[in-house]
Amino acid sequence: MKKILIIGGGFAGLSAAGRLCKSGLGLDVNLIDKKEENDFLPLLPDVVGRGIRPQCLAYELKNASRHLGFGFINEEVISISPQKREVSTRAGKLIYDYLIIASGSETNFYGNDNIKKYAYKLDDINDGRKIIRALREEAFNNFIIGGAGYTGIELATNLRLFLERNKKPGKIVIVERQESILGPLPLWMKDYVLGNLKRLNIDILTNSTIEHIEEGNISVSGKRIFNQAMVVWAAGVKTADFIQDLNVEKNPQGRIKVDDYLRLDENCFVVGDAAYFSYKNSYLRMAVQFAIAQGNCAAGNIINSIKVRQLHSYKPIDFGYIIPMANNKSCGKIIGLNLKGYAPTVFHYIMCFYRSYGVRNKFGILKT
Ligand SMILES: Cc1cc2nc3c(=O)[nH]c(=O)nc-3n(C[C@H](O)[C@H](O)[C@H](O)COP(=O)(O)OP(=O)(O)OC[C@H]3O[C@@H](n4cnc5c(N)ncnc54)[C@H](O)[C@@H]3O)c2cc1C
Repeated sequence: MKKILIIGGGFAGLSAAGRLCKSGLGLDVNLIDKKEENDFLPLLPDVVGRGIRPQCLAYELKNASRHLGFGFINEEVISISPQKREVSTRAGKLIYDYLIIASGSETNFYGNDNIKKYAYKLDDINDGRKIIRALREEAFNNFIIGGAGYTGIELATNLRLFLERNKKPGKIVIVERQESILGPLPLWMKDYVLGNLKRLNIDILTNSTIEHIEEGNISVSGKRIFNQAMVVWAAGVKTADFIQDLNVEKNPQGRIKVDDYLRLDENCFVVGDAAYFSYKNSYLRMAVQFAIAQGNCAAGNIINSIKVRQLHSYKPIDFGYIIPMANNKSCGKIIGLNLKGYAPTVFHYIMCFYRSYGVRNKFGILKT
C-alpha cells in the first residue's frame, strides 16, 4: 500500500486529501498539522469588525479525517529529507512514498524580535481571539498596522467598524515601507482604496517603518511616536521553518520552486502558499482558489504516477481577486471585470460561504 503524507490541513492539504481518499486505490493517506483545526483565513479580519465568532471559522481536522478517510497526526513538522523520503516531527520520523507539502505561510517579522514580541498578528483564529480580547480589555488611543497589503487594509477597516460599533475613539494608521499601498495592483484600485480609507478616517504613512515598540509606545521612522497603541503586523509572510531550512530553490518568501506538475522531485509535491509556481512572467499569488486547485492537481498526479500514467501539468485558472473593506466599499477584478462598492463585497462573502467547511460553520457565518 502506497504511503502518502500531506503536511498541512489548510485549503491545499484538504483538497489533496479529499481526492486521494476518493481514488479507490486504497492508499494509506496521513495528514500532519500542528493545529487541531483548519482555520478559514479569509474571514479572520471579520472576527474583529463584523463580530464573526472565531469558532465559526474553525473546522476540526479530526472531523475531516473521519469524513474523508485519512489519518490525522497532530504534530509540527520540524524537518524533511526528500532524499531519504522522511518527515520528522518531535514525536519521531515518518517515511513516505509520496509527500505533499501544503504548509501555507505565516507572518514574517524579518528577524525583528521586538516587533515579534509586542505586535499582534493575524495567522489563525487564536490571533483573532487575542486581538478581540485586547480590544475589549485594554484602552488604546492608537491602532498602528504594519503593511498596506490586502490584510493590513482589510484589518484597518474592520478595526474602524469595531470602534464605531463600540463607540470608542481611536486613531488608525497604516504604516507602509513602500511609496504606495497594495504593491503591484492597478492604480485605479489604489486610488479607490485610498479614497475609502480617507472616508473611514484611516491614515496612511508611506515610505515609513515601525521601528520600535515599548510599553505601548511605538516609534515610526525615527520621528513619530504613538502612545497607548496596539500594533498589528501584517507586513509580509514567509513559509514554515522546515522549508526555510531546505536547500532547494526558493523565492525570497521561501516558497519552493516547483515544476509544471507541482513537483520538487518525483515523489514530493508542493502546493498552495508553500509553492512558487511561475505564471505569466511572474509567479502565482497566494490565494485560496489556487491552493484548492493545486492540491487537487498534485493528488491527481500522485494517482497518475501510481497508475504509471502521464502526469497533468498545472494550468492556473484565475477568477480574480477582491480587497474586502468592512464598510462594504470593496473593490476587485472578477473574471476580468473591474468592480467597486457593494457587488465585490457580496461576491466575497458568497465565495467565503461556499468555500468554508462544515454545515455548522456555514450557518454561523450566515447568522453574523
Ligand atoms: C487574514 C488573511 C486573509 C486572507 N484573505 C484571503 C481572501 O480573501 N481570498 C483569498 O483567496 N486568500 C486570502 N488569504 C490567503 C489564503 O488564506 C491563503 O492563500 C490560503 O490559506 C493558502 O492555503 P494553503 O493550504 O496553502 O495554506 P493554509 O491554509 O495556510 O494551511 C497551511 C496549514 O499548514 C499547517 N502547518 C504549517 N506549518 C506546519 C508545520 N511545520 N507542521 C505541521 N503543520 C504545519 C498550518 O497549521 C495550516 O493548517 C488570506 C490570508 C490571511 C492570513
